[in-house]
Amino acid sequence: MMRLLLQILRNNSSLKSELNGGTKASALPKLFSRWLHAPTQPPSFGIAFDIDGVLLRGETSTGGSPQALRRLYYHSANSCSISALKVPYVFLTNGGGVPESERAKELSKQLGVDILPLQVIQGHTPFRELVKRYEDDLIVAVGKGEPGRVMSEYGFKNVLSIDDYASCFPNIDPLAQYKKWTKMQPTDREMALRTDPCSQRVQAVFIVSDPVDWSRDIQVLCDILRTGGLPGQEIAHQPPLFFANDDIAYQALFPAERLGMGAFRIALESIFNRIHTNNMEYTSYGKPNPFVFKNAENVLLQVLQSAYNNIQSSGEMQPFKRLYMIGDNPSVDINGAKQAGHPWVSILTRTGVFKGIGNHADYPADLVVNSVEEAVDYILRKEHTS
Ligand SMILES: [Mg+2]
Repeated sequence: MMRLLLQILRNNSSLKSELNGGTKASALPKLFSRWLHAPTQPPSFGIAFDIDGVLLRGETSTGGSPQALRRLYYHSANSCSISALKVPYVFLTNGGGVPESERAKELSKQLGVDILPLQVIQGHTPFRELVKRYEDDLIVAVGKGEPGRVMSEYGFKNVLSIDDYASCFPNIDPLAQYKKWTKMQPTDREMALRTDPCSQRVQAVFIVSDPVDWSRDIQVLCDILRTGGLPGQEIAHQPPLFFANDDIAYQALFPAERLGMGAFRIALESIFNRIHTNNMEYTSYGKPNPFVFKNAENVLLQVLQSAYNNIQSSGEMQPFKRLYMIGDNPSVDINGAKQAGHPWVSILTRTGVFKGIGNHADYPADLVVNSVEEAVDYILRKEHTS
């Protein structure tokens, strides 16, 4: 029996290369498991899940999301890991504030499946592509979580969070003394260490995640943008400004929607345009930008390659016939999938921003369902993969 199994392994091109590459005996059960699970033909479809309002409400799963995700793995597998993945999927969120590797770990815990950092596409993930342009320049990163660490992990070498940047300038926020939640002022030594980076010109500003202290952030950003990156100095040309998304609102735990990064952008832009001669210039990423969907398609192909690691070497990679976007926000998720066109199919859930009975009037989805569990059930039946 063992001889037969080894013979089968040797005849399988991808597994043969792993064996020849020195796979340890302890890894053999995993190899057998993957080989036994993988069909000859990889699926011609994939799924992109929005997170907030579809899979999670706050920190808690919603819409039967853990059960829905488990159905994308082979039932016979012991664990929901990449080697047992049947249907390629990614998370396509406009949210963020933590590195993709960390978000993958959090999501794995919340949803009960093993998620790779590759599968997590956040609003700020495309900022990675700008590293070459600003690698050594001083940049300021804004938002909740750890915006500075997110940008450092992408490879930006001279990044300061807006908290650290603002603390370099005494009295830049005239309301700071009334903000009981803020930390103590930095010591003189800390200030001295920070003087150098803060005397440099800010070359670009990145709104990585939802800003926390709007009054201070709008004040400091107006200072940076009006002076060409040197607060308190002469008026000069505005440095580039990037937003990870332009969502006006999103669904969190509170029953009504909450103001998002797009609302902050409107506030900043309205004020900036009133106090400055030139209008604010900026670039927004995130859904519904069709480029986000194109990028997701490429990432889904990479996920497919990781799960079915025999298709790359044998040259069987085919473009997807259908990609399903499951979202709760008509103007963001459904509008984005529609703009992206083929092969995207849009599915709207009623667990978040959208709560209507029928379809959305302005951005009708291809299908409206009550929950993500229903959406996955529909997809698997349609694709004959249940
Ligand atoms: Mg959402």
